[in-house]
Amino acid sequence: MQAPEQPADLQVCRTGTARAAANLGRMSDVRVRFCPSPTGNPHVGMVRTALFNWAYAKHTGGTFVFRIEDTDSARDSEQSYQQLLDALSWLGMSWDEGPEVGGPHAPYRQSQRMDFYKDVAQRLLDGGFAYHCFCTPEELEEQREQQKAAGRTPGYSGRCRDLSAVQRAERLAEGRQPAVRFRMPGTDFTWDDLVRGPLTFAAEHVPDYVLVRASGEPLYTLTNPCDDADMEITHVLRGEDLLSSTPRQIALYDALAKIGVGNGTTPRFGHLPYVMGEGNKKLSKRDPESSLQWYRDEGFVPEGLLNYLSLLGWSIGDDRDFFSMAEMAEVFDVADVNANPARFDLKKCTAINAAWIRELATDDLASRLERYLIADGALPEKPTHAQQALLRRAVPYVQERMETLRQGVHMLAFLFATDAGIYDEVTVGTPAFERDAADVASVINDDARAALQAARDALAAAGEWTHEALEAALRNALVEGLGLKPKLAFGPIRVAVSGRRVSPPLFESLELLGRERALARLDDLLN
Ligand code: GLU
Repeated sequence: MQAPEQPADLQVCRTGTARAAANLGRMSDVRVRFCPSPTGNPHVGMVRTALFNWAYAKHTGGTFVFRIEDTDSARDSEQSYQQLLDALSWLGMSWDEGPEVGGPHAPYRQSQRMDFYKDVAQRLLDGGFAYHCFCTPEELEEQREQQKAAGRTPGYSGRCRDLSAVQRAERLAEGRQPAVRFRMPGTDFTWDDLVRGPLTFAAEHVPDYVLVRASGEPLYTLTNPCDDADMEITHVLRGEDLLSSTPRQIALYDALAKIGVGNGTTPRFGHLPYVMGEGNKKLSKRDPESSLQWYRDEGFVPEGLLNYLSLLGWSIGDDRDFFSMAEMAEVFDVADVNANPARFDLKKCTAINAAWIRELATDDLASRLERYLIADGALPEKPTHAQQALLRRAVPYVQERMETLRQGVHMLAFLFATDAGIYDEVTVGTPAFERDAADVASVINDDARAALQAARDALAAAGEWTHEALEAALRNALVEGLGLKPKLAFGPIRVAVSGRRVSPPLFESLELLGRERALARLDDLLN
């Protein structure tokens, strides 16, 4: 099933909206960024990073910058770029600066900032902070092998670090294209990580590294700190997998300050804990439940998904699991993020989603379900007023019974399905009614036939078509009359009229379906 669109003005914040909005009005100079690469589908780890940055910006009254790191032309795609924009919009996380909205540091797509990187690389070379490296991949591999054999940490050997002008000219004359390599200062690096506390990397573990490939392509190692400096980012909150790039980036920051890129200050870094999936392995992009699209297709609501993701490494305290993003933003501080790996628990995520679905107002839930019913083909592209009215009447009966919107679609589609030979306003443009074959097989037998026949007669004779009257008539005919246990009496009727063993409550379902269609479905199964 295709995930439908959510409204742009998503109500992320049903509770506490006004109060938080008042807080959020204040401004500070905190500037955070979410800067994914457009390769593949957005995944939940990425959303968690975006959320923590967004919440920190909201909490501090700072600025949430959205930047696209699309410097890898071989892996980046326009489709993935659109998916990223769409993902943040669906989640209701609006950005203050970035693609579409612009801002003082535009453009916010790295593919459009190439001249800037080229210029910075040249200035780093001119200032002696970087050098041309002529080593070929084979030579680099050889160096690594030698280092390993000598029991040393593999890393760049420094071979091209101090080439003379003559030596450089010779290599160029050989037709070698140089990469630009950053000259690490050879000191240990310490920073006070906002999540993990003081961290030190020994100089020997942070060798000189490439900023620009021999092909002229600038790498993440250059573009990311350059943009963070240029965009005056104050706090870098990102996944722990990037921890090892931080000392290199801090060194580059110092050099950038010296050549006048940015405002001369280094951001504070906070590394968000790993998210572990099944079997205590890092949640992998290949796990289906790691893809944001999976949640959209299943009918998770953004409120529910974000609420759950916020718990991956953070807590609002007091054993509270259920809160809005506005409530999160009101209190969120990076200092409270837990450094221990977080465990992804789909059951809990689903339970929180169900709680959010129960929280929605009837009209809101009806319009969200409508989009899923349309996407699933159970309703036409433009539902009629009669269809919308029926959906709205049905929503309160399923709201407590579903964990995802998709489950709601499964429970409600029967109300709109067309019955052979019956014209009805609620079945305009909808598919024919069908029953789940396995559900039919599991409840329909000879006893069930007798019960269905009795039910058909009782319903045909029912005066008022209200769920109360229908319940009384059916209980009278089947439980008192035939002496059947309620489960045996009503199970077959449920499958006959809704097509499934899981449906909204039976008597209410019959009322919503109407006399003519209910009788037609019973007759159809009896025949
Ligand atoms: N583009 C990088 C990524 O997607 C951003 C890393 C960072 O936040 O520094 O992993």
